Amino acid sequence: MLPADTLENRLVSLAQSPRLRAQTFATVAYGDARFPLRSFAWGDDALPAVYVLAGVHGDEPGGVEAALRLLESLADGAAPLTRHHLLVLPCLNPSGLADGTRANRIGQDINRQFHADRTQESAAVRGSLDPRQAAALVDLHCDRQAQGFYLFELRQEGIGSLAAPILDALTAQGHPLEEAPVYAGYVGRRGLFAPTTADLGQFHRRAPGLSLAEWAWENGIPRTYAIEAPAGNGGEWGSVMHLTALFALFAALEATKAE
Ligand SMILES: [Zn+2]
Repeated sequence: MLPADTLENRLVSLAQSPRLRAQTFATVAYGDARFPLRSFAWGDDALPAVYVLAGVHGDEPGGVEAALRLLESLADGAAPLTRHHLLVLPCLNPSGLADGTRANRIGQDINRQFHADRTQESAAVRGSLDPRQAAALVDLHCDRQAQGFYLFELRQEGIGSLAAPILDALTAQGHPLEEAPVYAGYVGRRGLFAPTTADLGQFHRRAPGLSLAEWAWENGIPRTYAIEAPAGNGGEWGSVMHLTALFALFAALEATKAE
């Protein structure tokens, strides 16, 4: 699924859409190999942003596929948001995607490096996002062990949860939720991890370094999500779940009152 030449063709085609504003915000280099990092904006950028990112782990192409399908639907005229704009970074770890590895080409797990500019990729992403402009951030992942969908939700104090409408949308379409997902010793319930600050402290003793979603939360984005879908069926099943979750989140965000 998602060979590098196909990915590149789809990205180039999306960049030609008059409905999207494409940008190569950085180029990462390993020796002679160069990998552009691309972003696509959609909607009125005076409105609060929703950031959608995928592919930080190169061996989880289901998230990249979902981000591409989201962009292709926007290019075709879908308009899921009226009170927010979208910034989509569909492939954060192109060298890992090309190599089929979780880490980047030099073995760094980018998603443990967002506390500092320790990887080319995390530094580029940190430099390209403005947490003060964003209403939410979503990071798309796949879990090879999972049989069902689950998500992490981190919220600022006083901000309501949108996990229920997302999980309800998944079950309404017949997708299973992971009953008891486990992450770094923490056990979630019915598809949801909603860790407290104390829980996060426990995570970091076992898995040091900030993930993208944690970095976004620490920098004040009101809601951040790491979304995990099963990797089965070549990632296809997970991509469908990711898209269901994204559109449910968009609808729920649009329905929120000013917070
Ligand atoms: Zn992952």
